[in-house]
Amino acid sequence: MATYKLLLLPGDGIGPEVMAEVKRLLGFYAGSGIADFETEEGLVGGACYDAHKVSITDETMAKAHAADAVIFGAVGGPKWDKVPYEARPEAGLLRLRKDLGLFANIRPAICYPALAESSSLKREAVEGLDIVILRELTGGVYFGEPKTITDLGNGQKRAVDTQVYDTYEIERIARIGFELARKRRNKVTSMEKRNVMKTGVLWHDVVDDVHAREYKDVQLEHMLADSGGMQLVRWPKQFDVIVTDNLFGDMLSDIAAMLTGSLGMLPSASLGEIDAKTKRRKAMYEPVHGSAPDIAGKGMANPIAMLASFGMALRYSFNMGKEADQLDAAIAATLAKGLRTADIKSDGARIVSTAEMGEAIVGELQKLAA
Ligand code: NAD
Repeated sequence: MATYKLLLLPGDGIGPEVMAEVKRLLGFYAGSGIADFETEEGLVGGACYDAHKVSITDETMAKAHAADAVIFGAVGGPKWDKVPYEARPEAGLLRLRKDLGLFANIRPAICYPALAESSSLKREAVEGLDIVILRELTGGVYFGEPKTITDLGNGQKRAVDTQVYDTYEIERIARIGFELARKRRNKVTSMEKRNVMKTGVLWHDVVDDVHAREYKDVQLEHMLADSGGMQLVRWPKQFDVIVTDNLFGDMLSDIAAMLTGSLGMLPSASLGEIDAKTKRRKAMYEPVHGSAPDIAGKGMANPIAMLASFGMALRYSFNMGKEADQLDAAIAATLAKGLRTADIKSDGARIVSTAEMGEAIVGELQKLAA
């Protein structure tokens, strides 16, 4: 049985509540002999500030570097609104992303048939939707220099942001896109604005080159990002993997998120370079939602985003695609039975707690894996 090293960082608010359901799942995998996950746990965010006056410690960072994958809950909350800026809860998350070099953010948008009614689009447009937005996370206009506001002295100011990409940054994100597509429906759509931006021209050409050199077996199409946004709400099922830069990815992934209904349903993965020693990519898996202080401690949180994030770890860090598919099927079966946490409630559904939802999903998984 393979053994993998996980660092669990539950964080604040509902973070520990949804992480408890990951631990239940790990117990199932170990008990059924599927995989043995060696886990360590650390503090991050406000919980870490309370104990150590920083949002993540160097010891925890060292554990994150040594782990095969980091599983992250959520951080933040009103309790820490006044802590020094460098020690604010989100700083721990940003340090993990930066120090682990997590340049590729993967956000799937999956619409379970049982939840098609909670989408803002018509059922036929979203039912069975399963696409991935791949966003470049460490470059582009959010980080490019110069980044300034200058007083022009005539009552006017000038603000400058710089959109900048080097070939290697586009190559490595494109490769991840093509590799993802190979494990899915084998299609990549690259989005940029080459009609008005030089970075768009380079992005287009580099993606084309990587495709021609290394991934000819994958279908590649190019789309202008504005037109891509329009297509995403017109007929999202035409896509498989969308690869795009930091700015467009920020917007397009939020649009795609809303196609699927609730924040409590959305997983994500962030990947870095392949580690020379372990041959695995640095990776962190986390739900898209935050610490939800309004419902924390009430047992109401939806654990599906967290569990599906762990499913992404199975798929992308541990090459356990079959187990990841089974986990997705167990989530779909639980929803199809009418079990709902409060955030996704619908007429006739049975409202369950975080733990009941986790237990039901693991129960379905037991049946599927038998
Ligand atoms: P949020 O995602 O925490 O909550 C937004 C709304 O969605 C709330 O009404 C909440 O109850 C609901 N919600 C979120 N996740 C849910 C789940 N799993 N099940 C059921 N309902 C869920 O966003 P917010 O309220 O803007 O932020 C709260 C705190 O979280 C802030 O301190 C913010 O900075 C932080 N935050 C952290 C992350 C992160 O850790 N990655 C991301 C976003 C926000």
